[in-house]
This record gives sequence, C-alpha cells and structure tokens, in this order.
Amino acid sequence: MQRIYFDHAATTPLDKEAFEKSAPYYTELFGNADSPHFYGRKAQAAVDSSRDKIAELLGAKPSEIYFTSGGTESDNWALTGLAEAKKKEGRNRVLISAIEHHAVLETAKKLAENGFEIGYIPVNGQGRVEINALLALMDERVAVVAVMAANNETGVVQPCKEIANVAHEYGAYYFMDAVQLAPYERICVKDTNADAVSISAHKCYGPKGIGALYIKDKIKIGKLVVGGEQERGMRGGTTAVAQVVAFAHAYEKCVNAAEKTAETMREYKRLFLEELSDLPFVSVNGDIESSPTGVVNLRLDGVENVAFLYAMDLRGVAISAGSACASASVKPSHVLLAMGLTETEVKNSVRFSFGSDNTKEEIVAGAKIAKETAVKIKNA
Ligand code: PLP
Repeated sequence: MQRIYFDHAATTPLDKEAFEKSAPYYTELFGNADSPHFYGRKAQAAVDSSRDKIAELLGAKPSEIYFTSGGTESDNWALTGLAEAKKKEGRNRVLISAIEHHAVLETAKKLAENGFEIGYIPVNGQGRVEINALLALMDERVAVVAVMAANNETGVVQPCKEIANVAHEYGAYYFMDAVQLAPYERICVKDTNADAVSISAHKCYGPKGIGALYIKDKIKIGKLVVGGEQERGMRGGTTAVAQVVAFAHAYEKCVNAAEKTAETMREYKRLFLEELSDLPFVSVNGDIESSPTGVVNLRLDGVENVAFLYAMDLRGVAISAGSACASASVKPSHVLLAMGLTETEVKNSVRFSFGSDNTKEEIVAGAKIAKETAVKIKNA
C-alpha cells in the first residue's frame, strides 16, 4: 500500500543532510560543550556557529537566541518571562488570542493562578484577529500580547506587525509563536518588531526535542531551568549539540527555500481542493488564500472526523482531526469554536497539512482517497 503523509503541521521528517551533518556529534565529536578540552571545544564551536546561523536567519543577535527543548518550552518561557518582567511596572493583564496553541493557553492559565488577569482576543469567522478587537481590550495595564504568526489547525496568518505596533503603543510586550509559519516564510524579528519569538526544529525538517526562543536583548526575563550555566545561565542542562547542529542546518534550508515552498503549497492546496470541488458537503475552514503554509482545514458535513481519520489511515493516508496533541482527545477544537463553528461542525472538521516532501501525484492520489472515504462514511 502506498503511504502518504499529510500531517506536516504535526511534525516533518528529518532532512537527510541535517541528519548527516549532526551524526558526528553523536559519535566521534560527542563532547560536552562545557568541557574545556578538545572534545568540548569542538562541541562548543558547533553550538556557537549554529546559534550564529539561526540568529542571522531571524535577523537577531546570537545573544538573543536561547536553545530550548522546542516550541512548548519556548512558549512557556516567553509568556511567563515577559509577563513577570512587566509585573515590576505594575502591569497585570495578559492578552492572548483565542486560537493560541495549548502551550500558550495553559501558560496563561498558570499566570492567572499567579495573579494575572487573562484576556482572550477573539478571531473572526476566517480565523483572523481583527485589530479593532485587540484595541477594545488594550489599556495601560496590559503586560504582554501574544498572537501566533500562523495557526496550527487552519494555517491562517495573523497581522503580527500591526499587533506588535498596538502592543508597543500601550507599552506592552508582543510575543509571537512562529512555530507554524517558520517553514514557509522568513521570520525577521526586526520587521515584525516582536519582543519574543518561538520556533521549533521538528516543524522545519529538523529533529524533535529542540527549538529556540528569541528574546530582545534589552528585556530581562527570569531563568527557565536552574542548575547549569548553559544558555548564558538562563536555561541549564547539558546542551543537545547534535540536535542543535541539525536544527540550524534544517532551518537554514527551510528559510532559503521558503518562498518556493510557499508557492508549491499554494499549488498543492489548489490542486487538492479542485479534486474535491464536486462534493457539495465540503467547505474550507479559515482564510487559506493568504496563507503560505501547507494546511487545509476541511469541514465535511455529516462525516465524523475521528472515523474519517482512521478510515484514511487504513488506506495509507496520514492526516489529523485538529492539532496533534488534541487529535487523540475528544475535546472539540477551541480554534474552530472560536471561529464560530458549532460543535457538530467542529467534529466534522479535519486537517490536511502538506509539506515540501510531498509530490503532486501524492496530492491528487490523497484527494481521491479523501473523496471516496468521505462519501463512504456520509452514505453509511
Ligand atoms: N506552537 C505551535 C503553533 C505549534 O503548532 C506547536 C506544535 O504543534 C507548538 C507550539 C509546540 O511545539 P513543540 O512540539 O516543539 O513543543
């Protein structure tokens, strides 16, 4: 059976070159980057040049980049760190969009337990934050505004520059979770004017368990992990040298190919939707026209998403019924609910996410299988 992978928003395969570049750091160059001897110096040099590379790609200084275990950790650290930093100025409100990843949503809940007031910025029916909705919530008590660059369930991109401007006008910080946009668009922290940005390697054809957090150098946030002097004393723990090397290499390739990848994704999405266009019960959730990502969130009225996911899997096509962490649970997607879908409509929604390793033939073959599967379940 032909296997087709349409779940790149959950994770991507590791780039082979990135894997090969990192392999020596598992075996012969296995040193601890903090050791002063030959092995340690080699490891440290690799970490330094990887940090330089990622900083350059993001338009940041190397001293503004911290390696973390991935997007979740970066999100936790950024939101907590920025909120606590502003608390010293007497600010106690945190605004997050209603469609943030759970890594941000749950961090906000923890902040609420510690005395912060949380405000949720709504989105419109297309899954976008409207600036007026943000303005309606802004005041001088706001410490941080967090709105992701592209949503993981719909691929919808957010007006991040405008959001950053509004946050700054009111003296608040702006945090951008760029985990999903990073493989498709060059993120430039200066252009966006974000105070903190998170990215994750495994969404960019890098390894799992490694990511980065950019924090503007003038901002002083608290330490994340104590007990080691790594990451300039801010995040202790022996550095994952090989993962760092693979991350930098994969991310560089992704950024250099981003424009072309985005073009390919637009073509794939068009092709895919064309194949399904004669099904009257299919519609797209969210504004995918403006999105450079490979995500298509489809509503298949009368087709239960979990049944669809497993039926597709039996036919060799891997998709998702929401985000990866939510697909195993029965909780309906908070993202789609925030866009105004009913619970039934949410339970009839599935996510396809294409990647640069997919071929046109796979898109067409996968669409045909999706069509047959949807019709079969609907008529059952
Ligand atoms: N933020 C967004 C938007 C994501 O899509 C994800 C992963 O799905 C994360 C954060 C968490 O990243 P990681 O899996 O590296 O912890």
